[in-house]
Amino acid sequence: MKPAPFAYERPRDLDAALSMLAASSGSAKIIAGGQSLGPMLNLRLVQPELIVDISGLAELKRAEVSGNELVLGALVTHADIEDGRTADVTRGAMRGVAANIAYRAVRNRGTIGGSLSHADPAADWISSLAALGARVTLRSLGGARTMPVAAFVVGALESALHAGEIVEAIHVPMRSASSHWGYAKSCRKTGEFAHAIGAVLIDPAVASARVVIGAIDTAPIVITDAAELFSGRIAADYKQRFDASVADGLLAKAGIDDAAQRHIHVSVLKRAVQEAAA
Ligand SMILES: Cc1cc2nc3c(=O)[nH]c(=O)nc-3n(C[C@H](O)[C@H](O)[C@H](O)COP(=O)(O)OP(=O)(O)OC[C@H]3O[C@@H](n4cnc5c(N)ncnc54)[C@H](O)[C@@H]3O)c2cc1C
Repeated sequence: MKPAPFAYERPRDLDAALSMLAASSGSAKIIAGGQSLGPMLNLRLVQPELIVDISGLAELKRAEVSGNELVLGALVTHADIEDGRTADVTRGAMRGVAANIAYRAVRNRGTIGGSLSHADPAADWISSLAALGARVTLRSLGGARTMPVAAFVVGALESALHAGEIVEAIHVPMRSASSHWGYAKSCRKTGEFAHAIGAVLIDPAVASARVVIGAIDTAPIVITDAAELFSGRIAADYKQRFDASVADGLLAKAGIDDAAQRHIHVSVLKRAVQEAAA
């Protein structure tokens, strides 16, 4: 199929893009890398009157370390991160995630801001950035607001973006030297979207753990105080203390009734915990 007809604008800067969105009263769509929007247009799942192409906006391509965080413009591509063109404050965690998104042609064009905005439950950044404790800044003509990635994704293909807002930047906190990172996903074929994701950031030195169970048909389950998953205490032996029955219970509570599906998610999470401990 071909897209329904639409008008096309390529704004010269961020303010011009925001003005176009504000004037469109919700009938416009932003395009960044086009890797998700392109197919949706072709299938006529979306039929905007106007496409605002932000892919040329230099303001959204910046990547810089500021204080104890990395600030990534929304247009930073998966390949930019994979190739190390952005600073690595996560001790290789983001680089590893980026390198395993789809295949290289998608990673060359797909952007971190586009991936978050699209909020596909099976996508990698919504789960991994939630586990890393990242925040996202949204900008509109009225100003900017910043929120945790974990709060930004509210459901399947649903984000906290209001009409007229653009994802401007992603703030990734510096990962401490004592923390352990594990990320695992299950895909039918390499390069395909995941049907289960587990992401863990565990710091036994300060007894903290953030755990994310993703690709569950809605917003990822984010557990910021994850001691219950480790028999009540996060310590050096957390791999042995991992309690699969607690993870299973969390998935059941999230509405996953199929025991086989829960088993896949729990197994993938366990792999992430094992990877962190390795
Ligand atoms: C074959 C294939 C396999 C894939 N496999 C994976 C995978 O395994 N894992 C994975 O994570 N992803 C996967 N993807 C998706 C890919 O990562 C896309 O890059 C990503 O989902 C969207 O990024 P984009 O820049 O292309 O956004 P676009 O397609 O341009 O836009 C997507 C949506 O976000 C909105 N948007 C874009 N940028 C902004 C912004 N700055 N502010 C507000 N709204 C914005 C658009 O309006 C649109 O609604 C795959 C894609 C393809 C085509």
